Amino acid sequence: MSTTEEQYIKANENYVKNLEPERKDLPLKPSTPVRRLGVDSQPCNNPNLACTPQVIIITCMDARIVPSQALGLAEGETFVVRNVGGRTVEAIRSLVIAQQFFGTKEIIVLHHTDCGLLRFKDPQVHEKLKANPPRKNVPIASTVDSMVFLPISDTQVTLKEDVEFLKGHPLLYEDSQITGWIFDVKDGKVTKVI
Ligand SMILES: [Zn+2]
Repeated sequence: MSTTEEQYIKANENYVKNLEPERKDLPLKPSTPVRRLGVDSQPCNNPNLACTPQVIIITCMDARIVPSQALGLAEGETFVVRNVGGRTVEAIRSLVIAQQFFGTKEIIVLHHTDCGLLRFKDPQVHEKLKANPPRKNVPIASTVDSMVFLPISDTQVTLKEDVEFLKGHPLLYEDSQITGWIFDVKDGKVTKVI
């Protein structure tokens, strides 16, 4: 076992030791307590909590973002889908499952400043892969050319496009509450854009 893996295990031992007892009984279905959001309540699967409908956050894999903490949501209170850029076209599979099996109607698209996807376009990734293929003697040209990496030119424009994509998606409920926000990686501030 590597030193890093040993560190993960040691850190996890502390994590397990310090877990709140209630944490062990968290339900599979997230529920967002009204005490945090201060909005109208409706019944949920935890009889001890008044809950809003569940929330699903779609955001970038950027390590500077802990989306639940940024929005004041604790463990067990929100679904989170992450991919590079927080692009909704890549998240659609998870969104459909969240709606069909958990009834999640509130969808927060959380993009951010200084995203890595602002730094390149598809041809650059294609050229990089072809110039130095990850596996030796395995042809990849056609696979590479067929892949899109969903780069971003303007954060606000892409955020609006991603929200509109979900609003028009035939597999999502028409009455879904879908909003777009930007997280500032410098100061942690979130701003609602759409
Ligand atoms: Zn990013």
